[in-house]
Amino acid sequence: MTARSSLAIARAGYRDIALYAPDRAACAIDLSDNTNLWGTPPAAARAARDTAAAALTRYPALYASELKEALATYAGIATECVVTGCGSDDVLDSAIRALAEPGSRIAYAEPTFAMVPVFARMNGIEPVGVPFAPGFDIDPDALLATGARIIYLCSPNNPTGTAATRAAVERVLDRAPGVVILDEAYGEFLGHGFIASAPARENLLVTRTMSKAFGLAGLRIGWATGHPSLVREVEKSRGPYKVSAVAERAACAALGEDLDWVRARVADARAARDRLASALRAMGLAPLPSAANFLLVPVADAPAVARRLRECDVAVRPFTALPGIGDALRVTAGPEPMMDALLRALREAVACE
Ligand SMILES: *Cc1c(COP(=O)(O)O)cnc(C)c1O
Repeated sequence: MTARSSLAIARAGYRDIALYAPDRAACAIDLSDNTNLWGTPPAAARAARDTAAAALTRYPALYASELKEALATYAGIATECVVTGCGSDDVLDSAIRALAEPGSRIAYAEPTFAMVPVFARMNGIEPVGVPFAPGFDIDPDALLATGARIIYLCSPNNPTGTAATRAAVERVLDRAPGVVILDEAYGEFLGHGFIASAPARENLLVTRTMSKAFGLAGLRIGWATGHPSLVREVEKSRGPYKVSAVAERAACAALGEDLDWVRARVADARAARDRLASALRAMGLAPLPSAANFLLVPVADAPAVARRLRECDVAVRPFTALPGIGDALRVTAGPEPMMDALLRALREAVACE
């Protein structure tokens, strides 16, 4: 089929959406995607390996009920306040589809998670970016002034790493005309958040993922907490069988037996991040203050610097022309040998400017 005929049959709103395809060529040291660079939680790895062949032949649970129970215990809330998905990407997409009419708006502070405007357009919803407040707190009144049906907040925010203040989040929650989606993909690194308090509000959905602190990105497990009536709508939109049998078992094992491992790796990541920030500042760079497991480092011509780093087998994520920031590299914090390799490569890459 020619490109032209496939365009003619695609839904109009889809034609301008680009396929999500960042440069993912294999690289010895991959600091580009904010995953857990210390490895896999051991009980989860065992559970995945030991999943019986019989379990692969049957469909998994419709809505991952055991995983919901384990997550509810982890969050300290009732099971009916939890929804899961194939990664939090799936939960976000399902929530946007369930909670906003086509033609309505979703507002967020820019720059933020790049998939959000994509999910918005895919669901016929208009994405509206507003600037951050000075210091990268969210600007509640700018978000509210859009009148958007959904306000998306991300804290700690990807790609800046910065966290919103509780007062600013609460101002949005108290005044939003519709629903607030709070993305806490990096919540474990911040150490506190809204997963436990979300069910007490009717207008708040808080999303989390097992892809980052939990070290299970390959299993694609996302989840969210909220009022049971809100969560039910998201689950409807998500549909059945989105968490595989292997993923559900491994995730339950991680939540049961690997929490100390996860906590220790979170502490490792925070320490590595702070050491890396000091080293970058010593080189004359100015990483943004981060509450997550990565740093955003403004540099001139980020794609060129990222290409030179790749020649040293180090992958980072380049961004161009970020609102209020300009070009920057996003770098995942990892074990010391990886950070040393990054710094060595970066000294060379910046020296050839
Ligand atoms: C990584 C990330 C996600 C997606 O996580 P998955 O659960 O792997 O789909 C969602 N939101 C933010 C802000 C992220 O950085």
